[in-house]
Amino acid sequence: MPFSAEYDVVVVGGGHAGIEAAHAAYRLGVKTALLTMSIEAIGRMSCNPAVGGVAKGQIVRDIDALGGLMGKLTDKAGIQFRMLNKSKGPAVWGPRAQCDMDFYSKCARETLESFSGLDLLEGELASFSPFLQKTEILLADGRKFLTKALIITSGTFLASKMYTGLLESVGGRVGEPSADALSKTLSGLKVPLRRLKTGTPSRIDPDTVDFSECEVQHGDIDPWPFSDSTTHALNNDAVCTLMDANGTVLKRKFINFNSEKDRLHHTLNKIKKAQKQHHSVKNLWRYAVNCNEQHSIKDYQQWWNLSADSRRH
Ligand SMILES: Cc1cc2nc3c(=O)[nH]c(=O)nc-3n(C[C@H](O)[C@H](O)[C@H](O)COP(=O)(O)OP(=O)(O)OC[C@H]3O[C@@H](n4cnc5c(N)ncnc54)[C@H](O)[C@@H]3O)c2cc1C
Repeated sequence: MPFSAEYDVVVVGGGHAGIEAAHAAYRLGVKTALLTMSIEAIGRMSCNPAVGGVAKGQIVRDIDALGGLMGKLTDKAGIQFRMLNKSKGPAVWGPRAQCDMDFYSKCARETLESFSGLDLLEGELASFSPFLQKTEILLADGRKFLTKALIITSGTFLASKMYTGLLESVGGRVGEPSADALSKTLSGLKVPLRRLKTGTPSRIDPDTVDFSECEVQHGDIDPWPFSDSTTHALNNDAVCTLMDANGTVLKRKFINFNSEKDRLHHTLNKIKKAQKQHHSVKNLWRYAVNCNEQHSIKDYQQWWNLSADSRRH
């Protein structure tokens, strides 16, 4: 089959990393394509709607200083902006925004589509190999492209598994496939693949929560934009609801959840076995697994501190 096109740079993956890589290549003026499994899913936030936070907000501002897109997209799609760690010195402040997830993705896609000359290709990279001092890339549907440089930003999609309570399934994200062919190609090239465990916050049915017991958190009165080039007013009206995992609001639910504790431990052990390196995200689900009626948040903190060493290595 002949090559469909030839590029200077092909970026694989339409997540945060791929968006920035494709934009950077485009700004260099070279012929660039962004290849991703679903154009609809460009800029899709995997998990929670927050951008930034302590030790992460600075990175978004750094990306902005380098001319990147994430800060600008966040300023467009943000619905609540807060500067975290304000009680400490400015060096450790952490800007954070809660975003409208669907709108963030829409803004990302429309921004990339507005760059004439940047091609957005929908498809799955299956394999790649050298071809006359360039790289031939083969898509799962049989299309072939040539490129001088190939950048792979496949996020959480390589040989990925998902655990939802007691269920185990294959997928890069809910409703999206795992990049198995690319995983095999990389393994075949002796690129070591390791597991990263990530976790999503528990989804709680709002009808089961007594919001009168929760603390309401508003955005800052004078919100900071993430991008220095933002001139429009920020949408900062959304409120967050904070829940104390040790408080009555969630405890009642966890007590019921506890009857499943043994079976959930089984799933957790499977995850532990699957990951060579350790935990990255602590979340309520783990808390639910590890708490019972007698345990307090203090016990949980002790458990968390005790296992901190193993997580660091
Ligand atoms: C459930 C869950 C919870 C998470 N929670 C957090 C969190 O709280 N905080 C945090 O910072 N991070 C979290 N993450 C990690 C999150 O994935 C990253 O922060 C961020 O999305 C990584 O961006 P990325 O661009 O590297 O990859 P991703 O956003 O994962 O994007 C990868 C892209 O590559 C595409 N792709 C993959 N393989 C191929 C292929 N072979 N061919 C074509 N396209 C391909 C995918 O379709 C996708 O568009 C979580 C992830 C998951 C799944």
